[in-house]
Amino acid sequence: MYEVGIIGGGAAGLAAALELSRRRVSSVVIDSDKHIGGLSRDLCCKANPVCQRCDACSPVDIRREVRKSPFVTLISSSDVIDASGGPGAYTLSLQSSSGISEIEVKSVIVAIGSPTFDAARDARYRYSDCADVLTSRDLETMMISGNISVPSTGKTPQSLAVIQCVGSRDAKHGAPYCSKVCCKYSLKLVKRVRKELPEIEVTFFYRDWRPSDREYDKLAEYGKEKGVHVVRSRPAEVIIGSRPLVRYATVEDEVREDPFDIVVLAVGLQPPQNSQKLASSLGMECNQYGFFIKKGEGAYAAGCCTGPKDIRESVEEGIAAAGKAAAFLEGLQ
Ligand code: SF4
Ligand code: SF4
Repeated sequence: MYEVGIIGGGAAGLAAALELSRRRVSSVVIDSDKHIGGLSRDLCCKANPVCQRCDACSPVDIRREVRKSPFVTLISSSDVIDASGGPGAYTLSLQSSSGISEIEVKSVIVAIGSPTFDAARDARYRYSDCADVLTSRDLETMMISGNISVPSTGKTPQSLAVIQCVGSRDAKHGAPYCSKVCCKYSLKLVKRVRKELPEIEVTFFYRDWRPSDREYDKLAEYGKEKGVHVVRSRPAEVIIGSRPLVRYATVEDEVREDPFDIVVLAVGLQPPQNSQKLASSLGMECNQYGFFIKKGEGAYAAGCCTGPKDIRESVEEGIAAAGKAAAFLEGLQ
């Protein structure tokens, strides 16, 4: 039997495992993905050239430490399909390609993260049918590959638009909340792109600027740079032409359609799927959107599955959840 079962091997889950290891408490980290590391594995370094403190490398460093720990067992490519029992004696049912197995643990930390919004659901922005409309995650992947090009032509892009708040602050798509991270990350991402392509013209379409690092004047400052344009507007749609056209109303209520080589949708964070079922089986609760509520005894939640947050905050929550689980285990003795 392990002391703690950690469901999810992203930033919060790995941070929880490392903290428990430091306290000499055994844990097992279960992740549905083939590779442990979560969403941050797909994020590029934003150094420009100095570190921009995007924290994308932090889970990589933590994972390295976790791998060396004799107190942590990592199980990948496995889904927790059910849970039973209660504080002090939980049974987690795991499904993998080799079948169903069970793990006994005394405490549980849920750190299953949250998926990004499926941009195809907001048909206005034509993600499904225009190759040159990308999500911010697609642009991260492009950056990691080292090849920033217009998907439809393979040419170097001369212009790029970023549309903020896609799948966030949008009641129609079940996400009326702010995703907190997309302002900060999209600005850092675009700065990194412009380091590679200094001539590219960039336009940010934003409603409000809400960076989680609270550096509220960063966008306005950046907007003063040559080649950077900042437009306060939520575009109505993307129109497919020889290049994608962004249709939007200016603050003077003039309707414009501007062409760009690439349009990037800054997608927000969604609640984890089937969170309510997992929460019920562990005696936990979710809020009205499906994010886990951080309360209870024996079973704890940390990271983006409790609501949108950046990597640093996820790591902090993972450490805090580990502290609670360790205190709970001490109480059992
Ligand atoms: S914090 Fe971000 S920018 Fe800094 S080194 Fe790590 S990945 Fe690169
Ligand atoms: S962080 Fe910025 S882009 Fe993301 S939902 Fe909030 S306001 Fe919109």
